[in-house]
Amino acid sequence: MASFTLHGIPVSRGIAIGRAHLLAAAALEVKHYLVAEEHLEAEVQRLQQALVAVHKELQTLWLDLPKDAPTELGAFIDVHALILSDPMISEAPLDIIRSRHYNAEWALLTQIDELSAQFDEIEDPYLRERKADIQQVAERVLKVLMGSAQPLPAVGDGEYQAQMIVVAHDISPADMLQFRDRSFIGFVTDVGGQNSHTAIVARSLDIPAAVGMSQASTLVEQDDWIIIDGDAGVVIVNPSALVLEQYRERQNALQRARKKLNKLKKTPAVTKDGTPITLLANIELPDDCAAAMEAGANGVGLFRSEFLFMGRNSRIPSEDEQFEQYKRAVLAMKGRPVTIRTLDIGADKPLDQTEHTALNPALGLRAIRYCLAEPQLFLAQLRAILRASAFGKVRILIPMLAHAFEIDQSLAMVAQAKAELREQGVKFDEDVEVGAMIEIPAAALALPMFVKRMDFLSIGTNDLIQYTLAIDRVDYEVAHLYNPLHPAVLQLIAMTIAAGHKAGIDVAVCGEMAGDVKLTRLLLGMGLREFSMHPAQLLSVKQEILNSDLARLAPQTRKIMRSMEPDAIADAVQQLQLM
Ligand code: PEP
Ligand code: MG
Repeated sequence: MASFTLHGIPVSRGIAIGRAHLLAAAALEVKHYLVAEEHLEAEVQRLQQALVAVHKELQTLWLDLPKDAPTELGAFIDVHALILSDPMISEAPLDIIRSRHYNAEWALLTQIDELSAQFDEIEDPYLRERKADIQQVAERVLKVLMGSAQPLPAVGDGEYQAQMIVVAHDISPADMLQFRDRSFIGFVTDVGGQNSHTAIVARSLDIPAAVGMSQASTLVEQDDWIIIDGDAGVVIVNPSALVLEQYRERQNALQRARKKLNKLKKTPAVTKDGTPITLLANIELPDDCAAAMEAGANGVGLFRSEFLFMGRNSRIPSEDEQFEQYKRAVLAMKGRPVTIRTLDIGADKPLDQTEHTALNPALGLRAIRYCLAEPQLFLAQLRAILRASAFGKVRILIPMLAHAFEIDQSLAMVAQAKAELREQGVKFDEDVEVGAMIEIPAAALALPMFVKRMDFLSIGTNDLIQYTLAIDRVDYEVAHLYNPLHPAVLQLIAMTIAAGHKAGIDVAVCGEMAGDVKLTRLLLGMGLREFSMHPAQLLSVKQEILNSDLARLAPQTRKIMRSMEPDAIADAVQQLQLM
């Protein structure tokens, strides 16, 4: 058996060692033949029945969704159901059968090929990604048509199941669901980027994964032994006994480290020199508060409220519905502060998957821009958040601010929402704090405008990096340019932290940088005292904090901030970890 190594994009941490389970490739063997006139309607019906069967399949997936399943999973099934109902899939192929006499499979493939060609012309990366979704839906229909739906081996097949690593050209999020309960331990795909749907699901499931492996699904054979090094984005196929042994040792060490970390749950996050650090959780839905509490978070630093609005076929949750959800989060956090970010819709988080997308969605009518353009929707959300503030500490966080008038208009809306509640005699916290996301370079370069109007700041490094370096965070073709250590990015972060401190207001980082242990010391050295991250990352960051001495980090950080040389910066950041 040939041993070889593949390199791709790491999307989810950890090491997985197991046997390859090859997921059938997209291009299934499809028969082509012409149907006689008198059999045309029967052929049309055959395709219609397959479409209904796939609808049911998706419905079952949706209903079987475990209670604790990541929010994205439901949204992904919704997308596939929407695509399936779209006339381009549900009607156009039927017309092809009738007009061209093609058999059902051929008709469907013809339509998909035409659609794919149209998608290839589209520049918009979000829409381009939808092409994969359409192909995945078509594959499901084809599988049913050909009676070749391949059931996965039953659960409980012993050791084989326990060590299964899925290798595929691409995995649709809906297919990922089927693996969720089958103890698969990792996956590898040919395509995909750091922020592809599949990558997002892998991260929420906390399973080692690597994507963008180009030829993996053709090179790897069924039952090959595979090691996924999720940290490096490396896949080793049929490793030698020595390599396998080394990785098993690393895997054991990681498991031991995880167990040790669990002991830190109740330990306060204080640096060696006695500086307390606030560790907050990023959540998508109130249910996530359980994981935040379990990890010992000091509160919620980012409640991405848009997840309450997504996957609902454009049905906006009412003020009362929102209030119930915000209140649930506030009660679940038992007195700890809950920072609710107002609707950050748009770009890669459209309200409705079928809606018309702007030419440059990331630069379009998203987040606060959208809310100010829809004042009734915004006011309803603000009233719902304010009402929840009667049940515990709530803070309001506004995304994507760049202009003074946007800040002023947002604050005026908060004041109006308060006035309306007062008039109705509804209780809320009069002193609720309102903060700004600093995630547009213009905001970081005009901080006095913010600190004089806002109660706190939260740096959204994901978007700050995207806008500073002019790279779409969802586009894997430019993923290699997405560098948090670019000197321009570091300067903007440091300036924001310093301006907040000078003005005496809290500054947090709530982007992915806050949960990256390799950057914890750098951020501490820059003066950051509030970190907000996915609950799964919290204890590793806490451990790093407990081992950090601020006095020793300061001079090295100053040196990094003076440098404009990427290599020197990367080296110096590594040095920080050794101190
Ligand atoms: C960010 O931009 O860093 C952020 C935290 O918000 P989101 O990832 O939801 O855009
Ligand atoms: Mg953002």
